[in-house]
Order: sequence, then structure tokens, then C-alpha cells
Amino acid sequence: MIQIQQLRLPVSHPENALKKKLLSVLRIRESDLLSYEICRHSLDARKKPVLFDIYTVDAEVKKEAQVLRRIQNKNITVKKREPAYVCEPSGLKPLNYRPVIIGTGPAGLFCGYSLARMGYRPVLLERGADMDTRIQDVEHFWDGGELSAESNVQFGEGGAGTFSDGKLNTSIRGEKGRSKEVLRLFVKFGAPESILYEHMPHIGTDILRNVVKNIRMEICRLGGEVRFHTKAVDFYTEPAPDESERKRLSALVVRNTLTGREEIIKTNLAVLAVGHSARDTFVMLRDRRLPLKPKAFAVGFRMEHAQTFIDKSQYGRSRGKGLPAASYKLTANLPDKRGVYTFCMCPGGYVVNASSEEGRIAVNGMSYSGRNGKNANSAVVVTVSPEDYGGDDVLAGMEFQRRLEETAFQAGNGAVPVQLLKDFRADIPSVGPGTVLPQIKGAYAWTNVRRIFPDWLSAAVESGIDAFDKKLPGYGMGDAVLSGVESRTSSPVRILRDENLESTVRGIYPCGEGAGYAGGITSAATDGLKVSEAVSRIYLPFDTDDQA
Ligand SMILES: Cc1cc2nc3c(=O)[nH]c(=O)nc-3n(C[C@H](O)[C@H](O)[C@H](O)COP(=O)(O)OP(=O)(O)OC[C@H]3O[C@@H](n4cnc5c(N)ncnc54)[C@H](O)[C@@H]3O)c2cc1C
Repeated sequence: MIQIQQLRLPVSHPENALKKKLLSVLRIRESDLLSYEICRHSLDARKKPVLFDIYTVDAEVKKEAQVLRRIQNKNITVKKREPAYVCEPSGLKPLNYRPVIIGTGPAGLFCGYSLARMGYRPVLLERGADMDTRIQDVEHFWDGGELSAESNVQFGEGGAGTFSDGKLNTSIRGEKGRSKEVLRLFVKFGAPESILYEHMPHIGTDILRNVVKNIRMEICRLGGEVRFHTKAVDFYTEPAPDESERKRLSALVVRNTLTGREEIIKTNLAVLAVGHSARDTFVMLRDRRLPLKPKAFAVGFRMEHAQTFIDKSQYGRSRGKGLPAASYKLTANLPDKRGVYTFCMCPGGYVVNASSEEGRIAVNGMSYSGRNGKNANSAVVVTVSPEDYGGDDVLAGMEFQRRLEETAFQAGNGAVPVQLLKDFRADIPSVGPGTVLPQIKGAYAWTNVRRIFPDWLSAAVESGIDAFDKKLPGYGMGDAVLSGVESRTSSPVRILRDENLESTVRGIYPCGEGAGYAGGITSAATDGLKVSEAVSRIYLPFDTDDQA
């Protein structure tokens, strides 16, 4: 197989243009091209307003060696086929009980699917509701109803990513083909094939919801089980059965989040894939002395511009047909070395009230697959480290997030607090919109967002926006809308794990974003696969009905 890079075509080219270009670059007849497949696509806007599609294509051709000899081109190389991702159980230790996975976000779901595929019959516990009920609960909240503390934008089937933009790009290296496998599984369960080659793969919340349901049904078909409204609230240990000094997990205490009824589930293996918002679970883990470590995270607000403005600045013209809603990514290093950056940018998206605790407000961003909302939004955040938020407790970062969310709740009187950038700069409350109309899921109120943050943080974000305005002129427009607070960018703690991915209690496997090992949908799912591999290297599948 050969790989051809840098195939450049004007955007909105006819469908057969790529094949024609391939034949001309390879200088072969159509009958000599056996097959071809796009393996990368991106958009080149360096000569805007003239835009190009850039492709990398893998092709099978007749007389490959001859073709390669004839054309000396550094963009054409021989490509070895990537080995497919494999995960087969090799462990020999029998399990007395079924393995349990706590959380059905991307980490728990992909770990659960992988274990189910290998015959481990996992039990997945989810404190929140199933997808359909959860959608109703969230929409009820956005329409002005009360917040459900257990079924919201953070908690419920699919985890925090369910009401998301569904961006599937990741900066982690595709170690052992795991992230490619994650994307392949997304396609298998309903995502479009283009995510396998798009530079910035995106599926939107609408497609993601179906993918999640399909994975859950497959886990159940493979002998696994998913229990909703079931929260892990404590665990028991027993002395190690062998010479190792570690205690071993012996059972989980779970509570039904609808009835409050508690139950004990015997198990020697639990994957902790609880996400970054499981604050009560973090408290329980700290109190039960599982080793946790504070970590840096980022806080700030969401910032909205009209999508037409972003399109114009990125494409040099209006978008027209055939182009995706334009995106951006901006970073600035301030003189005091503090980093300010845009994060989780949602073209054609909505700001969402993503709160999960009564009396506190957190926002985030979401879009549908068509990305055809009026505004572009992005988090604009500043890194904060344990030195910034102080306190001796390992959960001091979480308490800092909570304080900001409480102040935001008070500022908006229970609604999402919003402010125009010009009023943020002047430190005065806003009274209404300018040219950018907020696109927010949930009630919002015009106020002074600046007052939510400590002065140093507001000043840092303001300087960051000044720097962004130099890179993307007009970004710092006075009418841009700010919503607070963006506080759940990543976990405020890391749940420590060893080289076998276990905690100090044998059988507890911290996993995904909440444990501090991922920072998005794809990386959390990838970590889920990694943990399933670690389990499969030690334990025999749990695949007989004789076992408990
Ligand atoms: C609105 C929004 C938009 C986002 N957009 C994107 C995006 O476009 N692209 C991207 O890559 N990332 C995005 N993210 C981030 C992404 O969703 C997370 O990085 C990812 O979901 C983390 O996966 P996870 O499985 O580690 O944790 P989570 O997805 O948080 O899942 C944890 C699950 O565990 C459950 N749980 C918690 N505690 C317990 C317990 N004690 N017992 C039982 N169950 C429990 C929770 O209910 C939850 O379902 C977005 C997040 C939000 C909120």
C-alpha cells in the first residue's frame, strides 16, 4: 500500500475530483488503481478567502514498485498496514464475583464494553438516569424546572459528554492503537465514518446520545448489566489473600438514588470512572484514605460571538454551503507565566447550564451535529494550581470550584450570570445584549460576571483576551457575551494508581477524567480501554453461571 499526502483541492470540489487528482499524481490509469481510502482531511485557510481541502490518502495500485520508481515525490511513501487493536484476556486469576464499573461516561462505558467483549460480564453502576429519562430531566431544568442532583448535564447515562459538542479530537498519542480503536467503535455504534479521518472529528450531542445507547445495549447483549440510579457510596476491604501487603476490595455499598435504599455488592474489582463532578464520591474516597493528589485545572467563563464573525475571520469570507462552522483555538502566556487559553470551542453551539449541585452554577458548551446555531462559544480559562487556591486539604481545589459556582449562582439569582465584555472591562453590570444575542440552554440574567472571580483571575482573563484580539482581530469586541462560571474543565484531583493501574487497595482501578487520567471524551474512552487491558492481564474472564 502507498500513502499520498498533501493532495490539495479547492473546497466544494466535485466528488470525483479526489480520484482524478490521485490518478494524475500517481500517473496511472484508472484500471491500475485497485482501491483508495481517505485517512486524513483538513482545511487549509492560509490563502483565505481561497480555501483548500487537504487530503492524505492510502491507495492500493497495480505494480506498486514500478509506480514508486517512476515518481520521486516526498509526499508519496510506502505504508505498512497498521496492526488492528487487539485485547485478549491473558490473566489466570479467577474472579469470585463480577467486576463492577462505577460510572457510564466514556471511560466506564468503553471499559465496560471491552470487558464485556472479552467475557467478563461486568456490572456497570450509574448514579444518574438512563438516556431518555435524563434528557427529560435536563430539558425540564433548562426550561426553568428544578435541578435534579442525580440526573443532569454531569450525571446520567453517557456521563458528562452526553450534552456536549461531541468533539472527538484528542491530544494524547494513539498508544497501541487505542484512540483509533475508540473512533472505530464510535463508528460501529452509529457515528459517521468521516470521524476516522477528519482532523477535528465532531459528532454533536444528537449522534452521541444514540452511540451511547447502542454501546449500552451491546454490553447487555454480551452478558453485562447496567444499573441506573445506583450510586457507589462506600466500599469494604479485606486482608490480602496472598503475600502482598495490600488490602483487597471485598464489596461496594451502593445507594438507590430514587429510593435511598442501600445494598451491598460483593466484588473484588471496581473501576472508578466517576468523572470530575463526583464531589461526594471524592469526599468518600478521601475519608476512606484512598491516595488522592491535588492537581491544577482551569477556570473562567464561556464567551460567545456571532458565528458569522468567526467564519469571516477564519475563512476571510462568509461560510456559504459546504464549509463547516469555523472554529478557533487561542492561547496566551502572560508576563507572570500564567496561561490563558480557549477551551472546548463549540462552533454553531449553545452555552449550557451544566450545574449538578443545588445553589451552584457551572456552564459549558454543546452543539448538534449540524453545528448550525447562531453563535460560536468557547471557554476562556486561566490555569489555577494548588498554590492559587491554597488550603491544606487534598480537595481544596474542589472547594475553590464550589465557591466560584456559589458566587455565580448568587450573581444570577439562580440563573446563568451573563455580561457584555465591555461591561466586564468597565466592571459594571450589563443590562441587556448588544449585537450578539446569547444562545443559552437554561435561564440567564444580566449582571456583573467580573465580580464572581478574584481580581487576579479577572485581570488575567482580560489580558488573555487582549492577546487573543491581536491573533483574531475583533475577538475582544465589546458586545461579546460572557457567562459564568466555567469551573469543570478537568478534575481538581488525581486518584493515584500504580503501574498496573490499581490504587493502593487491590482491585480498585481509578480511570478516566475524574481520576485525572483523561481530559475529554476520546481520551477518557481510551483510558477505559487501557484499564480493561490491565484487568485482562490479571484475571480470567468471569463467564460461567456457576460463579456468584
Ligand atoms: C457540556 C459538556 C460539553 C463537553 N464537550 C466535550 C467535547 O465536545 N469533547 C470532549 O472531548 N469533551 C467534552 N466534554 C468533556 C467530556 O465530557 C469529559 O471529558 C468526559 O465525559 C469524561 O469522561 P469520564 O467517563 O471520565 O467521566 P464522566 O463523563 O464525567 O462520567 C462519569 C459518570 O460517573 C457517574 N458517577 C459519578 N459518581 C458515581 C458514583 N459514586 N456511583 C455511580 N456513578 C457515578 C456520573 O453520573 C457520570 O455519568 C464536555 C463536558 C461537558 C459537561
